[in-house]
Amino acid sequence: MKATIAVLPGDGIGPEVTSQAVAVLEKVAGLSGHSFSFNEAMMGGIAIDMMGDSAPPETIRTCEQSDAILLGAVGGPKWSDPTASVRPEQGLLRVRKHFDLFANLRPVKSYPALAHHAPLRPDLLEGVDMLFVRELTGGIYFGPRQEQGDGDSAYDTELYSVPEVSRVAHVAFRAAQGRRKKLASVDKANVMASMRLWRRSVMQVHEDYQDVELEHVLVDACAMYLMTRPASFDVLLAGNMFGDILSDEASVLAGSLGMLPSASLGSGTFGLYEPIHGSAPDIAGQGKANPTATILSAALLLRYSLGLEAEARMVERAVEVALESGARTADIVRRGESYISTTEFTQTVLGALSA
Ligand code: NAD
Repeated sequence: MKATIAVLPGDGIGPEVTSQAVAVLEKVAGLSGHSFSFNEAMMGGIAIDMMGDSAPPETIRTCEQSDAILLGAVGGPKWSDPTASVRPEQGLLRVRKHFDLFANLRPVKSYPALAHHAPLRPDLLEGVDMLFVRELTGGIYFGPRQEQGDGDSAYDTELYSVPEVSRVAHVAFRAAQGRRKKLASVDKANVMASMRLWRRSVMQVHEDYQDVELEHVLVDACAMYLMTRPASFDVLLAGNMFGDILSDEASVLAGSLGMLPSASLGSGTFGLYEPIHGSAPDIAGQGKANPTATILSAALLLRYSLGLEAEARMVERAVEVALESGARTADIVRRGESYISTTEFTQTVLGALSA
């Protein structure tokens, strides 16, 4: 197949990790007979410096002409003045909004080779392989709010409509169908009216996916279960704020921020793929960045935007093989152990792909 991918390296370690993911995608194309072209565009702090806008119109156009976006990370101390009128994250939010990317997918997997890095007992981590589906463009982060009152009170509103919940629920049920066919929908239906609507809408969508086992989990209990029985979860579906908090909680199970990919999807196949970590200015330019999260984001791109499931699995397996062979970047070694550079790690993944 032929595909065009917009590459937005961004700031800090962004360019270091996106270049590695592109190398992996090029290898996959070569091995599987596909043709991928990569169109690079500016985003974040570098775009502010060069063009005065964190997501210039040229960048949006490049994305519109592509099948998917691969993003590094944006931001850094140079652009962190809270009073600045143009900020790196604005561009990212604009791109999500522009393409109506309402479903954020974050797979969290534990790797036996890295069990010593996670804060839980290794026996609890065994078999952890879950997928968070978080609603990304609605809920309390976007509901009516009072931002400047008399200073004595303020409010934000959790507001969801049936169509908003239904469309993200469809994404979650479809994902569950391709996995272990279990969906846990997270809510607070015992207290909040918006969450009773959430539960009712999810139950309605479930009628189309009778092969998927659905459970409703209250958010407070879910926070606990993620630590006490993480391996019991397959797909978790949550609203914007609950999903934000719980997916960060679950991310510690993988052992390092450098391991975790994400996908933001809309109603079609177009999507934005990025590691969950930021631009890591503390290690930028030192060859210490772990490229795994971005390489695994490229695997999600193959799966969700290009429909290349076998190729996606090939990449995920190659990362596992690299880790099993002992390849480690600086963030995932035990104290005192030696580690390899960003590009050396990728070379190991590329070697595993060829094998
Ligand atoms: P961060 O994720 O950049 O870094 C947190 C810690 O994790 C650092 O010690 C860093 O070295 C380490 N780390 C992160 N990714 C790593 C990787 N791939 N390999 C090895 N170590 C890694 O978070 P932060 O320091 O809070 O933020 C730095 C900048 O990134 C800020 O400007 C922030 O606004 C921005 N940010 C951007 C995004 C995004 O682009 N989506 C997300 C989060 C933060």
